Amino acid sequence: MNTSSTLKAAQTAAALREQGHSVIDLTVGEPDFDTPQFIKEYAWEGLQKGLTKYTASSGMKPFTHAVADFYKGEFGASIDPSEVVASCGGKQALFNAACTLLNPGDDVLIPKPYWVTFPEIVTFCGANSVFIDTEETDFVLTADQVKDAITDKTRLLVVNSPSNPSGRVIPSSEMRKIIEACVERGIYVLTDECYLFFAYPPGEVFTSAVLPPEVRDYVCVAGSFSKTFAMTGWRIGYTIANQAWSKEMIKLQSHSATHPTSFVQYACARAMENASESMAAVKSMLSEYERRRDWLIPALNTIDGFKCGMPEGAFYAFVDVRHLLGDRFPTSADVADVMLTEAHTVVTDGTGFGAPGFLRFSYATSMENLHTAVERLSKIFGTRAANVA
Ligand code: PLP
Repeated sequence: MNTSSTLKAAQTAAALREQGHSVIDLTVGEPDFDTPQFIKEYAWEGLQKGLTKYTASSGMKPFTHAVADFYKGEFGASIDPSEVVASCGGKQALFNAACTLLNPGDDVLIPKPYWVTFPEIVTFCGANSVFIDTEETDFVLTADQVKDAITDKTRLLVVNSPSNPSGRVIPSSEMRKIIEACVERGIYVLTDECYLFFAYPPGEVFTSAVLPPEVRDYVCVAGSFSKTFAMTGWRIGYTIANQAWSKEMIKLQSHSATHPTSFVQYACARAMENASESMAAVKSMLSEYERRRDWLIPALNTIDGFKCGMPEGAFYAFVDVRHLLGDRFPTSADVADVMLTEAHTVVTDGTGFGAPGFLRFSYATSMENLHTAVERLSKIFGTRAANVA
């Protein structure tokens, strides 16, 4: 396995800062908002109630029940609490799902560009990543692309929508077709829904938890509170999968993390029970991200050699810098290096996401930082008239 390239870039930014430079870090993969105060208070309430001991490996009952109720209330999904397993973040949810399903030699379909961790998990399981090129459809996966990529060895498809790094959202109708195409062929689907609540209107939010039971038998949802409630450091997420798959994940987890922190589970359960306040907090974060997106994308498109479509979700701009490549910049990593050394602006090279020639800009940072970054980059690369792709 390789070190996470996204974490590497963040470390470079931190090192420059320590040297006294004013660094604009656009590598961040986490909300710049604090966890809502009422959720912090729920955690304290949990501690005061004495929730300081082990819970069930699947997660405590109030947690698994709250996930099921929350999905019923928000999406009309019918989930049994026994289909929910608490995990230490979305990452562990993905690991639990993949490790209990995959055997060495299995093929796993991963659309490009992908979140850096997907192929690493596949490698960890001794399986093979089979990448699907989606540039032709502007990085929005289609059912036809999936059908074309399926072979006898395909065991699993991993889909992430809204996507990190592209910010693209697969429309609900296409998502249903993608999943149906897999299920018809006995192929499982792992839907990474960490950015589920971060699709900008009029874009639709789609969770595969709403699919009928016979389809859901082949689907595992990997969910997370990291982005939803700005809780990256709390390490809490969950899977939603059929009972047999969930049982295997519980078994695996009982020998690894055991379960996520007891009072953190409690805090999330209470937050989901208080869905109106929680969703109001989510909506206010979403509208701030949207404000930044609406300013940033046209601004990036004024920089010479930068081309960026409008992302429909998450908080990333995925910029095509292939027009800049040549003698001065052989690769997009060289473009990123110059941005770092000459503009003290750090972004993530697309190569780690399977998209060399692209750079990922996170706008989970202040408007002021975004303005400064664009100003600095305009000086280095020059500007042209606004040209929103
Ligand atoms: N999936 C995607 C696409 C992500 O971007 C991230 C975090 O950046 C995760 C999963 C994992 O998040 P966590 O483990 O913090 O829940």
